[in-house]
Amino acid sequence: MHPPGADVVVVRHGEIGTKSQHVSAKMERRLRENLRAVLDDRGLDAEVEQRRFRLWLHTDDPEGVTAAAADTFGVVSASPAVRVEPTIESIREGLTAAARETYDGGSFAVSARRAGEASAHPFSSTDIEREGGAAVWDDAEARGIESEVDLDDPDTELFVDCRADDALVFLEKRPGPGGLPLGTQDPLVALMSGGIDSPVAAWEAMKRGAPVVPLYVDLGDYGGVDHRARAVSTAEALSPYAPDYDMRLRLAPAGDAIGEIAEAVDAGRMLVLRRFMLRVAAAVAEEYGAVGVVTGEAVGQKSSQTTANLAVTSAAVDLPVHRPLLTVDKTDITARAEEIGTFDESTIPAGCERLAPDYPETRARVGEIEEREPDGLRERAREVADRVEPVEDAADGDPAEGETA
Ligand code: ATP
Ligand code: MG
Repeated sequence: MHPPGADVVVVRHGEIGTKSQHVSAKMERRLRENLRAVLDDRGLDAEVEQRRFRLWLHTDDPEGVTAAAADTFGVVSASPAVRVEPTIESIREGLTAAARETYDGGSFAVSARRAGEASAHPFSSTDIEREGGAAVWDDAEARGIESEVDLDDPDTELFVDCRADDALVFLEKRPGPGGLPLGTQDPLVALMSGGIDSPVAAWEAMKRGAPVVPLYVDLGDYGGVDHRARAVSTAEALSPYAPDYDMRLRLAPAGDAIGEIAEAVDAGRMLVLRRFMLRVAAAVAEEYGAVGVVTGEAVGQKSSQTTANLAVTSAAVDLPVHRPLLTVDKTDITARAEEIGTFDESTIPAGCERLAPDYPETRARVGEIEEREPDGLRERAREVADRVEPVEDAADGDPAEGETA
C-alpha cells in the first residue's frame, strides 16, 4: 500500500547496524548487491541509494520493489513512500493526499519520527502527529467520513519520517525476513528430502546469511521418481530468494548403497541410513567448501529424531550438523512453509516410505549402531558423493546416470 506519488522504497535493516563499522559496511554492500539481484531477477528497475542505516530504492514501481525487498534476507521492513518538503504544511498535504487514497473511516493514527539534526526544524515529532492528524481528520470530515483517532491500535496508520532535507510519508512497514544478507557466511550443505521441514530449515540458514547447496539423497527403489521430482520443486521454490546462487538440487545417486544397507541391517536400520546420508553430505560439503550440514530435524518429530538418536546421527561426521528447526513444532513449521512459499511443493504426493521398521529404536547408543554398520560405509558415501550432479529441471524424471535399481 503506497501513497500517491510514491517513488522511493525505504529499506530498513536491523542487525547489520550492531556490527563494527568495517563489518557493517561490508554487509551493507552485500545487501545492496543482493537487492539488485532480486530486482533484476524480477525484471524490476530501481536505483539503489545508500543512506545512513537505510537503503533507498528509487523506482516507478513501488509495489513490485517493496515486495522484492521484503523477500531479501537482511531486510527488516520496506516502505513505499512519497517525499515532501520538510515543513508542517507540506507534510499536512502529503498526509491528506495519502489518506484520500486509503482512509475511508474507522480509526487512524499518524506516527511521526524526526531523524537527524533535532534543531533542523522548529517543530517536534509530536507537532507533526498533532497537526498531521488534524489535517487528515478535517479532510475526512469534508469528505463526509466519520473518523476516530486511536493511537494504540488504529485501523489505518500513516507514517512520517522527517529529516533535515525532506520528509517521507508512507502507509506501511512491510516486514522482510530479517536476518543477515545472504553470502555473509560460508556455505552449508542443506539436506533436502522434499518434505515440509527441510526447505524451511534451508531457508532459515539462508536467512542468517549462509548460502546452501541443496542436496537430495536419491534412495533408488526406496524413494523413486516422485520423491525426486518433489525435492527438485522444493529447491526451485527457494531459488527466488537467492538469484545469485546456484540453487539447483544436487542429486546423490545412493540407490545401490541404500539397498545394500537395507539388506544388511535390520535393527537400527534408520539410524544407519541417516548416518550414511550425513556422510554423503559431509563429502559433498568438502567438494563445495561448505562448513556444515543443515537438516530439517526437530526433537522428537520422528523416532530417528529423539535427543538420543540425534546424538547418534551427528556422531557419524566431524562437520557440525545444524538443525534450525530443532525446537519448532510441526504446526509452526508448516505455517512457515506456507509463508515462504515452499509448502505446496512439499506436499506433492510421493508414495509411502518403505524403509522404516515396525518398531523403531528411540534410544540408540553410538557404539551399538557402529557395530551394526557394514564396513566401508565412509568410502561408499564418498563414492556416492563423487557422482553427485545437479538436476536440471523438475520434469527430469529419469534415473540418475549409472544408477541401477
Ligand atoms: P522433511 O523433514 O524434509 O520435511 P521428513 O520429515 O519426511 O521430511 P525425515 O525422514 O524426518 O524427513 O528426515 C529428517 C531430515 O533428514 C530431513 O529434514 C532432511 O534434512 C533429511 N533427509 C531425509 N531424507 C532425505 C533425503 N532422501 N535426501 C536428503 N535429505 C534427507
Ligand atoms: Mg521431518
